[in-house]
Amino acid sequence: MTMSALGEPCVLLKLGEIVLKGKNRELFERRLIANIRDALQTVGIQVDVRKRHGVIAIFLPEGATAEQADAVAQRVADVPGLVWIHRAWRVAKDPDTVLKAGLELVGESEEAKRGARFAVRSRRRDKRFPLRSNELDRLVGGAINDEYGLPVDLKNPELTVFIEVDRDEVFVFTGGIPGQGGLPVGSSGRALVLMSGGIDSPVAAYRMMRRGLHVDFLHFSGIPFTTSESIYKAYALVRKLDRFQGKSRLWVVPFGKAQQSIRTSGQDRLAVIAQRRLMLKTAEEVAHRIRAAALITGDALGQVSSQTLANITAQDNAVDLPILRPLVGWDKTEIMAEARRIGTLEISELPDEDCCSLLAPKRAETRAKIEDLKLIEKRLDAEELCVQLADSIQEYTL
Ligand code: ATP
Ligand code: MG
Repeated sequence: MTMSALGEPCVLLKLGEIVLKGKNRELFERRLIANIRDALQTVGIQVDVRKRHGVIAIFLPEGATAEQADAVAQRVADVPGLVWIHRAWRVAKDPDTVLKAGLELVGESEEAKRGARFAVRSRRRDKRFPLRSNELDRLVGGAINDEYGLPVDLKNPELTVFIEVDRDEVFVFTGGIPGQGGLPVGSSGRALVLMSGGIDSPVAAYRMMRRGLHVDFLHFSGIPFTTSESIYKAYALVRKLDRFQGKSRLWVVPFGKAQQSIRTSGQDRLAVIAQRRLMLKTAEEVAHRIRAAALITGDALGQVSSQTLANITAQDNAVDLPILRPLVGWDKTEIMAEARRIGTLEISELPDEDCCSLLAPKRAETRAKIEDLKLIEKRLDAEELCVQLADSIQEYTL
């Protein structure tokens, strides 16, 4: 008998931190299911997403293939809030069918061909099922051992057959892919990421999406004094990150002229930090317009001169909105490894002409004084300037 004669391919999802939620759990689960449905629109298969006790099951239409179920599993692996994604088989709720399914799955697996040590792990979410979980383990495990002669290893198996008895059916599966973890996007509200073309800010964006924020992206380009390369990079990065949240928007501020006036209005050494404050003030103005409740940056303490404690203090002082810095305690190597994992590193490493290169003093101030910065801002009329900059913004939708 083949697997598809025994049951239907489906996808079983294990929730992450949501399970720790008390009264609000329902709300988080509903958000997660909505996000899963949205994400699956791009796969082009009509699916049925159902909440079960402690898990979410995705059922495919009748006649769906194992490959289609794989595609669904791959897509939801990017949706924050899930810790495991299992390509499972949904079989009838009787011990004999479950046993055949377990045998069949092991028979098909690469591990069995290599003579792998195996284990069976059963769980009974529906206590009315006639066999207890350890009885089911022994029944299926014994049959696998008889049929294929594989050794049992409960401590450190190379192949595990999972059997989960649910309300209306039994799920049988062997492997799984790890999910993103975290919370469903949108459950924490909305925020605005200050997104350069660099390595850090895309990682910062990803980390905050995983904490439940839906983010918009704001990029400052050196235009008209630089080329548009940095905008293309920012756009490519947003496209890469969109799979985690959907409906991403990139906003671009032409910042070159404002940078030029910073350069002519104050001390050379303060220019970088003055520019960063102007970016933040502009970002705050944009955030109000799009109803984002926080700003996000890729700052890491001490990484560059603009990220010393004194300079971070000077940046926080520029705005009222909270500035979230998820990478503040990360090493560059850790940030790069994460960038590689989420697929943004190779885009970030493309050459570009960042707007920051327009303002590179020989020695940057590491202990900027807020009064000095306020003086520069007064000369610039920064309050008015950031409103003008926000007015000149351009939107790029994906
Ligand atoms: P990144 O790799 O994210 O560019 P970085 O190590 O180059 O960071 P900085 O250039 O000091 O560090 O920038 C610190 C943070 O300021 C960035 O992570 C980003 O959030 C913001 N930022 C810097 N430049 C820009 C820009 N051109 N547009 C939008 N945000 C920016
Ligand atoms: Mg940078």
